[in-house]
Parts: sequence; C-alpha cells; structure tokens
Amino acid sequence: MNSVRYLHELQHIDLEIDARVAAIERIDERLRTDDSIPLARAVVESRESEVRAAQSALPEIEAEESDLNRRLASIDKGLRVGGIKNQSQLSHMEEERSRLLEEKSLLEERELEAMLADEAAGTGLAEARAELVRAEQAWAEESANLSQERIVLEAEIAELHRQRTAHLESAAGLDTELLAKYERLRKTRRGLAVAVVENGMCSGCRESLPKATLQECRSGQRVVYCSCGRILYAPH
Ligand SMILES: [Zn+2]
Repeated sequence: MNSVRYLHELQHIDLEIDARVAAIERIDERLRTDDSIPLARAVVESRESEVRAAQSALPEIEAEESDLNRRLASIDKGLRVGGIKNQSQLSHMEEERSRLLEEKSLLEERELEAMLADEAAGTGLAEARAELVRAEQAWAEESANLSQERIVLEAEIAELHRQRTAHLESAAGLDTELLAKYERLRKTRRGLAVAVVENGMCSGCRESLPKATLQECRSGQRVVYCSCGRILYAPH
C-alpha cells in the first residue's frame, strides 16, 4: 500500500532527525559536565597549600637555630674567657654544650628535610600548573570541535525537516488519521511506528507473523498491524 510506503519513508527521515537530536543532546551533556579543568584547578590549589606549609616550616627552624647558636656562643665564650669556679661547673657547661650540639645536628636534619619538602612541593605545584594548562588547551580544542559538530548537526536537522515537509506534501492524499496514528506509535514504540517485514518476521518485535497477515500485508489492500501494534511494511 502506497500510504504505508510513504510512512516508512517518513519514518526514515524522522529516525535520521532523532539520531541527530540525540547526538546534540550528548554534545550538550559533554559541554555541560566536563570536569577536567575544575579537577586540575583543585590539584593546583592543593599543591599551593602544600608549598605554603613547606615554606612556613623553614623560618621556624631558622629561628630555633639562631637561638641555639646564641646559647652555644655564650657557653663557648664562658669556656674561653674562664672564670669557672670549679670542676663541677666546668663539666656542667661541657654537658650543656654537647647537648646543644646534639640538638643543633637534629635541627639541621629537620632543616634539610624541610628544604627538600619545599623543593618537592614546588615541583609538584609546577607540574600541577602545567597540567592545568594542558587541560585548558585540550578542553578548548575539544569544546571547539563539539560546537562545530553541533552546528553541522543543526544544519542537517534543518535540511531533514525540509525533506520531511516536502515528503508530506508529496503524499497529499495520505489519510490524516493514519498519519496521527503513526505519530502516536512513534512516541510509544521508541520511534519505530512502521516495522519492515523481514523473513516473515516483524522487524519491530522480532515475532514471526501468521501466514494470513503476511499475505494481507503483501497484497497491499489495507493497512496491516503487527500484534506489537506497529504498522507492517512489506517492501517488494
Ligand atoms: Zn511487531
């Protein structure tokens, strides 16, 4: 039947439109939800706070070190100048001196560690900043491509709508009720209102069709429906 063939052709155009609308939705979703830049930015911020922490440790150690040096210098001066009253005072000063030297060597270790931590934090920050630049460049490129793709899809959809209108105009005698039914079926049958008969089966639900239905369908005398509700189309 001619009207079924018309509807099948119309459906072909409609499915092409559907595919492009879905592609645009995927593009918009991607444009809306990309989180590569915020993630890279968060890493930069966390590296910055690591650098601040590492840098604040050094002045503290340096202050402790100069205090220690002052105390050591004072003992050294005492030992050098003399005036030590007895052996006990002398050994007390020497003990204090070796305790301070031990403390100083521990402090120097801490200072070295802090310097290394500072350096590592600086390297980490530089890497995170470079990664942010890379992410920004990659996203600029990708989003430009996606926007370009979107423009092409929009143009194709506009062209398909023109084809659809021309197709409907060429089928001026098409039963408006059948067309309305087609539109309803498209909504409820995931876009597939017209199912092609393939190897005696409905391409919509994959059920085998009764012989009588097949014959009726091929005769093209009237519109035949599958038990799944779809309009059956048997191309010759
Ligand atoms: Zn079916």
